[in-house]
Amino acid sequence: MKKRVYSGIRATGRLHLGNYLGAVKGMLALQDKYDCIFSVVDLHAITTPYDPKTLKDNVRNVILDFLAAGLDPSKCHLEIQSKVPQHMELAYYLATIYPVSRLEDLPTYKEKKAQYPKYINMGLLYYPVLMAADVLLYKGELVPVGIDQEPHLEVMREIARKFNSMFGHPSTSSGSPTFPEPKRFKTPGEKVPSLSGAGKMSKSIEGSYINLTDDFETIKKRLAAAPTDSGTTGGPLPKEGGVANLFALLKLFALEDVYTKFVQDYEKGNIRYSELKEVLAHAIYGELKPLQEKRKELEEDTEVVDKMIEESNEHCRIMAEVTMQEVRAKMGLI
Ligand code: ADP
Repeated sequence: MKKRVYSGIRATGRLHLGNYLGAVKGMLALQDKYDCIFSVVDLHAITTPYDPKTLKDNVRNVILDFLAAGLDPSKCHLEIQSKVPQHMELAYYLATIYPVSRLEDLPTYKEKKAQYPKYINMGLLYYPVLMAADVLLYKGELVPVGIDQEPHLEVMREIARKFNSMFGHPSTSSGSPTFPEPKRFKTPGEKVPSLSGAGKMSKSIEGSYINLTDDFETIKKRLAAAPTDSGTTGGPLPKEGGVANLFALLKLFALEDVYTKFVQDYEKGNIRYSELKEVLAHAIYGELKPLQEKRKELEEDTEVVDKMIEESNEHCRIMAEVTMQEVRAKMGLI
């Protein structure tokens, strides 16, 4: 049997360069080789403040971004998380074997608490358990996600080990443990920095991102707002802050000799950030333009996309049910 791959993106808005480089590029690299399930994780999206009126549109937008980026339903399965109810069932079972204290200590939980002090809910604490269930439901072994998800991958492996030791007589079909211990599939863009100069690019942080659907002028405008310095100090590149982040983006999108030229300009103290930002805007738009053209076509194909996602959800429910039968039996529930 081919290795299973699982990854999901929250339905909280349009995909940005961080999602694309950290997650989608990894998905694209794996869809030809493995048995892949890629998900729009709407149940994760509702753990932070959201508008029920736009949730469905957000789900749709992620699906369209997936397809426009090149995910191919003839090679991989695309699911909408809430349409495969086994995710929630497995999450509850796994929650019963995992300590609350470990979840409270996770950096991602602490960050979200600080970001939304009035919206600290059980779902937020539960997030990594649901994410473990997402991947383990399909016995996923490889998970193409950004580096920010590494602590969640660790939780996933701990849960898999705990389940295997508590209930895991070898899986009847393969003789191997019930759950594999999933590993992250890394991409060169595993940590795309924020345009604001601090932290990572994120959908939920205004001013931090460039969306895959942004036109050239919007990209230029967003880059223009990114903080820099006087450009005259010279010396080695800074390791953090606005300038460091612009160079990180330039490295990811521009040709090597272009990147080297700007590093040398910086070191000599005669860099022109307006020139760097113009070059960067062209490089980013050059990569996004074909995706945007494909997306326009897909937006017209409503029925084809609806049918594809319905069939794919059904296929995923069937795969998920195989694992659930095994889990329910091992936990003594059937
Ligand atoms: P966001 O933080 O923008 O809401 P999600 O939590 O939906 O993004 O993450 C979806 C995927 O995109 C995950 O695999 C995550 O690791 C990846 N990702 C998000 N932001 C970045 C980033 N700045 N750099 C690299 N990968 C990222």
